[in-house]
Amino acid sequence: MANTSELIAVKTKGYAAPAAGAPLAPFSFERRELRAHDILIDIQYCGICHSDIHQARNEWGEYQEESIFPMVPGHEIAGIVTAAGDKVTKYKVGDKVGVGCFVDSCRTCEECKRGLQQYCSVKTVWTYNARDFEGNPTHGGYSDKIVVDENYALRIPDNLPLDGAAPLLCAGITLYSPLRHWGAGPGKKVAIVGLGGLGHMGVKLAHALGAEVTVLSHSLKKQADAKRLGADHFYATSDPETFTKLKSSFDLIVNTVSAELDWNEFLQLLKVDGTMVIVGLPEKQHEIAAFSLTAGRRSLAGSQIGGIAETQEMLDFCGKHNIASDIEVVPIQKVNEAFERVVKSDVRYRFVIDISTLKK
Ligand code: NAP
Ligand code: ZN
Ligand code: ZN
Repeated sequence: MANTSELIAVKTKGYAAPAAGAPLAPFSFERRELRAHDILIDIQYCGICHSDIHQARNEWGEYQEESIFPMVPGHEIAGIVTAAGDKVTKYKVGDKVGVGCFVDSCRTCEECKRGLQQYCSVKTVWTYNARDFEGNPTHGGYSDKIVVDENYALRIPDNLPLDGAAPLLCAGITLYSPLRHWGAGPGKKVAIVGLGGLGHMGVKLAHALGAEVTVLSHSLKKQADAKRLGADHFYATSDPETFTKLKSSFDLIVNTVSAELDWNEFLQLLKVDGTMVIVGLPEKQHEIAAFSLTAGRRSLAGSQIGGIAETQEMLDFCGKHNIASDIEVVPIQKVNEAFERVVKSDVRYRFVIDISTLKK
């Protein structure tokens, strides 16, 4: 265990968006000194989630109290513990760990007690673009180090590679949580809308859970990939016949798309008592016709990442089933290019930044 008194303000290097929509550029800052329950993580890889782009470009301004710049994005963090505070019991130096979308919550409200820290009724402290309980801005994983309370870190199974495991911390749990909550498993027909970073994890996880999986993609381009990832069926939503053919087919639809789609059309694809869960976060509001829900006693729901215990359960499940993300590793100097390619759906299926390239 490290002598925490030596670790005053951890000097950290990263990439930040200096202002909304501005290209990311090198940025140096300090992480807090280690408290008794903190661990220091040497970040090795960080996934690029579409949410990083939405926030760096301030596309959710309407729904957020504030957007904080300079902003160091990144909430799919994988690395190695290099120091631990005096009272840390869960991790030791050398452990493979991850950090997801949040780094703290009130710990006492009903939701926190139920392990639903992502819905904390007081405040979920997001990994970046937020303020901690002292009011200091948080910074994410496009950086070489992070200090986090041991209760908000996750253990990455030894058999998973750190680069392919990084996207599990957001994309993985964002799909695992609704699949589990709405009972995806044997005998259930599940559709995943959008085969991107989230969607491809949804296919792998729903398949491993034993469900019959259909991918609804906006073109036919990803058909072969979808089958390889574990999908049983594939349809292009650009073909209007898809909506006739698949009427009343699914028990569960998980919609990962942030572009504009007519949700009413997709609701028609649910069986009686089926549920469509929204996880994609479009800028614009959608109109829902009451008839889309009443005909078939259908439900429209939403879901946001997952709590700490469930995220650990997902990582252990992925370890057991050897599931990691399909990734393209990029140096941090290419992050702006990677953002552009994500927006164009030109990634198979997640960019992961090799943080060692920060030293270049
Ligand atoms: P992504 O990798 O860009 O994937 C989105 C997918 O949507 C694309 O691969 C594409 O799949 C489809 N798509 C893109 N443009 C489209 C268009 N014009 N029309 C129809 N479909 C289109 O993004 P991601 O990282 O998976 O994130 C998806 C969304 O989820 C984002 O809004 C993100 O902020 C949000 N998110 C939510 C949570 C949560 O907790 N709820 C967590 C993480 C992210 P096809 O080519 O197959 O159509
Ligand atoms: Zn994310
Ligand atoms: Zn709480």
